[in-house]
Formats: sequence, C-alpha cells, structure tokens
Amino acid sequence: MKTYTHTHLLLVALCTVALIALPGAPVQAAGDDHDDHAGHGHENEAKGAAPAADPHAGHGHDEEIDPTAFCKEHQLFEREDALCQAGLIAALQPGQGLKVRLASTEVAAKAGIKTAKPQSMSTAAGVMLTGRSEFNRNRLARLTAVGGGVVRRANGEVGQRVTKGELLAEIASPEGAAARGQHGSAVARLAQAEAAFAREKDLFGKGISSRLEFQQAEADLGAARSEAEQLRAQLAGYGVAESGGSQSRLRAPLAGVIVEKHVAVGDVVAPGTPLYTIADPESLWIALALPETRVGQAVVGASVEARFDGLPGSLFRGRIVSVGAALDERSRTLQAVAEIKNPGGKLKAGMFGQVKLLTAAAGESLVVPAAAVQSIDQGSYVFVRQAADLFEVRRVEVGAKEQGLVTILFGLAPHDEVVVAQGFALKSEVLKARLGASCADH
Ligand SMILES: [Zn+2]
Ligand SMILES: [Zn+2]
Ligand SMILES: [Zn+2]
Repeated sequence: MKTYTHTHLLLVALCTVALIALPGAPVQAAGDDHDDHAGHGHENEAKGAAPAADPHAGHGHDEEIDPTAFCKEHQLFEREDALCQAGLIAALQPGQGLKVRLASTEVAAKAGIKTAKPQSMSTAAGVMLTGRSEFNRNRLARLTAVGGGVVRRANGEVGQRVTKGELLAEIASPEGAAARGQHGSAVARLAQAEAAFAREKDLFGKGISSRLEFQQAEADLGAARSEAEQLRAQLAGYGVAESGGSQSRLRAPLAGVIVEKHVAVGDVVAPGTPLYTIADPESLWIALALPETRVGQAVVGASVEARFDGLPGSLFRGRIVSVGAALDERSRTLQAVAEIKNPGGKLKAGMFGQVKLLTAAAGESLVVPAAAVQSIDQGSYVFVRQAADLFEVRRVEVGAKEQGLVTILFGLAPHDEVVVAQGFALKSEVLKARLGASCADH
C-alpha cells in the first residue's frame, strides 16, 4: 500500500481539483493531498475490487472514516491507523492518538527505541539550592582491621558490588590467634564446670555432699558460661572461626559497592587500619547549604527534587533527613542533608546539582525527557508503547521545559510507557507515510 504510481498522482490531482470546484466543500490542507483519502475502506483492496475509471469515485472524501474499515496491512482499524491516515495526525487534540504498526516486533529494538514511564514532579513552590551528592552515611560501612597482622587475601576492587556477608579480606593475626586460644581454654573450662555441676547435683541429691558444695558448683558453672560467651564474642569480633583456620576473616557488613580499598595481599596492617569502605549507591545524601533567610524552610521531612547537569532528563526525589543546629560562621549558611533514591546508581557521589526544596504542598505534574517530545506541524507529540510492534503517536500539551525535562500538562498518564530514546525513528515513519501515498494502490 505504499507504492506511489504516476497515474494515481494525476488522479489525486484531479480529485482535489474537483473538490475545490465543488461549492461548499471544506478546504483541504495545503500540500496534503492524501487527507482526502480519509474514509475509504482498505478491505476493498484486499478483496481485489474491480478497478474503476476513477478510483476515488464513491468513497467518502472528507467524511468520517467508516468505523468498521479495517487495514489488513497494519492490523488496525483505519480510523486509528497513523500510517494509512497520516493526515489525521495534525487534527489530534491533546490526549488523542493514532497507532503506528511496525513491520515486525524486532524493529523497535533494532532502532534502539527505549521507553520509560513519565516521572512525577511537584508543581509546588520551592527554594532553589545547590547541593552536592555524597554517600549516605547510614548506608556506608568502613571495614577496619580488628587485629593486626599480615594480609593473606584482599578480594574485590573499587566499583565492584558485594553482597552482605561476602568475604573480603583474610588477615593472619596474632591477636586473632590468641583470642582463639583463650576461647578454646574457656570452652574447656566450661566443659569441666558442667561435669562438676552434674556430679555435685547427683551427690547433693543422694545426701552425700552439702548444699554449699552444690551451690559453689552452680556458681562456677555460671562464671564459666559467661567467660566462654565473652571470649566467643571477642573471637567473632576478630572474624576468627571457632574451628578451622585461625585467620581473621573480614566480611562485607552490608550489600553495596566497594568505594574504597586500601589493602593488598602481603600488607602488614595494625589494629584499626581502614581496609575497605562499602556504600549503598542506591540511596545517596545531598549536602545542602541554606542561606540564613531560608532556615525556616529547612524542616526534617521536607521534600526535595534534585537535578544534575551531568544527568540531563533525570530527576531525583527525596526528603530532608537532618538539619544543622547552628549556622556556619564563615558562610552564614545552615547545613542540611537530604536523602534521595538513586535507582541503578546513576548518580555518583561528589556531583553538584540544583536542588528544589519544596516549601508548599501542591499538585504533581508529569515530566518526560525533552528527547521524548516530537514536534509535527508545530504540535507536540509523544510515542507511547502499546506492544513490541505497536506505538501510539499521541498529541500532548507541553508546559515548562528546564534541565532537559519537559512538563506534560495534558495527554499523558503515569503508567504510559513513553519512548524516550530514538523516538525520531517513529516520527520519520509517520512523516514518510504522510509524504508517500500510503493508499495509492487502491
Ligand atoms: Zn482517494
Ligand atoms: Zn494501514
Ligand atoms: Zn492503505
């Protein structure tokens, strides 16, 4: 249905001339001959209808498209078929759309088309501040050598993900070995005390030994138990197992990413030497400095929205989690910290960004990356994924554009999967369909 024949071009021209000559006929869109194909049923093509002298005769130009007319090529009703009825696109109202059927389910992926749901951004008034991202210190762990010694193993590299409990380092530590010796002795003493207690209990029950002897055995057992427990805890602190090798084993205390590593195999480390820093990159802190005039707005729990020049089109949301007690004497600013979600760890620590501290509750609006909005005939459109090979070209009403994000005032829902990358590939399909006579072979 896409071959544009010379004969047909002439017929279209004739048809248009005839319409213009007709009194009271609606004005045709300039240079858009194919608008006048609206309303003819494509099922006729498939049925091989007998060629007429004027193929346009009898089908309703300028009338509503027959709601039952079905396009077999695109498996869509004609009235929703953007490729066969490309002329309808310009007439869409915000929120209305037409569908674009691709040649196969692989086309979109090959073209690099990516979709994402629109982000929600507050329309509330706010104070604009500069912020710096840093690791969330509640989700950060520094791993230090508890006992000194020689490093036998130092797993992982900076940037590598680790799971909670993953083995990172092994240190042959004399203190660790000594702790294990003490623990072993305590366990042996505990066994003796248990045996003595059982014996005294038996003798006391038979009236052979005194109550005093029984009570002494009971007290000895309690002391041996608490000593063994204390030394077991000390051993665990060194990361030394109760049996097997006596190396001190250091494990990741939380799941995250290794952000610092100061240790290599063969190093001799003293107790307290920092070895690793593990951080959770999916939750970051933003350090904020509020001018003195704005200290009233710094309230724990207040919402913030952060954007970073290095990550155009991304919005990070969070809340103030702590506010300083006093102004910094030199800068006359109040320090505050916001915690933000950073799914996928896109935002890195140490980046500067613009942070909006929201000061009043208000509505939410949806925003999409600027690349998601396509302009056709001065109208704004987005492509919304319906299926692997089916996209809707939808007219939207756009609002403010800043920091690579465009506010969609109307026409988008939070669950819509909007094309955010390579949407131009879809736009050019639509434009091609409009230039070429998609219905020329009828
Ligand atoms: Zn026609
Ligand atoms: Zn079609
Ligand atoms: Zn067609």
